[in-house]
Amino acid sequence: MGVFAYDPDCLRGRAVPGTWRHWVYMQDQKTVAIICPACQRALCLPTHTVSNTGAVSPSVVCTHPGCTFHAFITLKDYSPHG
Ligand SMILES: [Zn+2]
Repeated sequence: MGVFAYDPDCLRGRAVPGTWRHWVYMQDQKTVAIICPACQRALCLPTHTVSNTGAVSPSVVCTHPGCTFHAFITLKDYSPHG
């Protein structure tokens, strides 16, 4: 479980675990948001770096209480401009 599929609607009521989308995080700061495949809640990644091929670094640790998800992930079909 490390490849996240692109889903532009992933925070709009039909959250599919293991998907991602672009997200504006506070004012104009762009980041990506993912749906945690373990707890199925949304996570923003403002302190992570995403390469042009979608590789996220460092590894992602879910911050939701009680969730133990921790993995290196890749964003499928990632484009830096989206
Ligand atoms: Zn989680």
